[in-house]
Amino acid sequence: MDRIQEHLDGLLAECDMESRRRRDPVDFVHRYRESRDQEIVGLISASLAFGNAVSAGRSIDRALAALGPEPSRIVTGSDEAELRHRFRGFAHRIYRGEHLAAMLARAGALVRDHGSIGNAFAAFHDASDGVFRESLARLADALRGETQSRSLRHLISDPRAGSACKRLALYARWMIRSADGVDLGLWPIGPSVLLIPVDTHILRISRNLGLTNRRTATWATAEEITAALREFDSEDPVKYDFALCHLGVSRDCPSRRDLTKCEQCVLREVCSVWKTSRASPSAKEPGQLRL
Ligand code: SF4
Repeated sequence: MDRIQEHLDGLLAECDMESRRRRDPVDFVHRYRESRDQEIVGLISASLAFGNAVSAGRSIDRALAALGPEPSRIVTGSDEAELRHRFRGFAHRIYRGEHLAAMLARAGALVRDHGSIGNAFAAFHDASDGVFRESLARLADALRGETQSRSLRHLISDPRAGSACKRLALYARWMIRSADGVDLGLWPIGPSVLLIPVDTHILRISRNLGLTNRRTATWATAEEITAALREFDSEDPVKYDFALCHLGVSRDCPSRRDLTKCEQCVLREVCSVWKTSRASPSAKEPGQLRL
């Protein structure tokens, strides 16, 4: 495990956070100065970070354009019908303007009641005895309400249901981890509680590193990977998430095996893909292999 930590630290050190951030949905959040706007923009951006990245980026742009330069003022000062009007014609995958309006109307109510979404989350966290899954589930309940809409239930997933809830976990990471040029550290909660947002890249690379053997992105998978990472830093277990995820997003670690890329990878000495290729007597030199 010490060797893995050493290589993960190497990955973090060589990650060009600024240029990677420009290709990440968190970049939208950094376009706003006020924390009250950033947490609203973060909610929109994380919730729509689903499907093709380019199309998700366009959808986030459209949603933000509908709210103007002060999204928090609009969200907290509008009712659901007014927000629906702003988002009329909006569509991203299975989501429509009415779903965004419903979520944001409830987010506005949380801000009016608690002062910020972060304060609301802190209250949920206290009421959940510090159990992150339950705190996040209470936040999801508050943002979704008792809806029967399948799309709205998909837009704001339920951590109690067993899926990894990647977008909620991602939103929490952005809001909770200390400001480092990517995450913002806006919410009054320590990062030790966070769960890694598991997408296909994190799942694949975590399996390569032996952080999990699970094949699907479930809540249990996220807990297992986070538990392994907690051994490296119990106070900030998801600090490697951004660099690991972008290793996949950038295709420096492609989903199809490519040992020519592995040759350049700082993780190769602790990665099963590379180690297996070295151990195999039939393996040809990197670059000659049929992958
Ligand atoms: S060694 Fe290759 S497979 Fe392993 S993490 Fe790096 S690029 Fe991905």
